[in-house]
Amino acid sequence: MQSPWSHGMKILDRSDRADVEDARRIFREDLESALSKAIKALEKDDCRALFHGANPSEVLTNIVQGKKYGDIKAKMLKPEGAAQTGRKWWNPLEVRIDISMREGSGYWLNLDEEGRGFLLLHELGHVFHRLFDGSDLKDNDTGDSAEAEENRKINDKLLSDNCIGRQL
Ligand SMILES: [Zn+2]
Repeated sequence: MQSPWSHGMKILDRSDRADVEDARRIFREDLESALSKAIKALEKDDCRALFHGANPSEVLTNIVQGKKYGDIKAKMLKPEGAAQTGRKWWNPLEVRIDISMREGSGYWLNLDEEGRGFLLLHELGHVFHRLFDGSDLKDNDTGDSAEAEENRKINDKLLSDNCIGRQL
């Protein structure tokens, strides 16, 4: 069966549309429970201290609710990443976090609540590099370069040591 997230730009018939609406509703529910895990982790001083220049719980909550600083969307991304964060070109004061709806190890659909909370905190590091005074989490962690490879390891370790005691 084709994933409801892989519809792209094609015109949907009635039953496809119901599937997409279901998938969106489930994503919003999963996002709320992942947010709870992330907020709980941010109650720890060592986790909160990874983020500089704003209150990370407040920033993440606002982004998940789409109220302030940006928003989060579920999307079919290229296979390389489980998520991506960028400044909106149409509003540089806000970010867009895209969560990949591909299936496979390390992707949202295959993670439990804690794994998803971990993923949100990882992306929050990128948000802080875009909008505030940065983060101990490394920003350059995409692609095949040795630096990116090293930074992915550093980010996983920082988050599992200080925030959520597990890796993706
Ligand atoms: Zn990253």
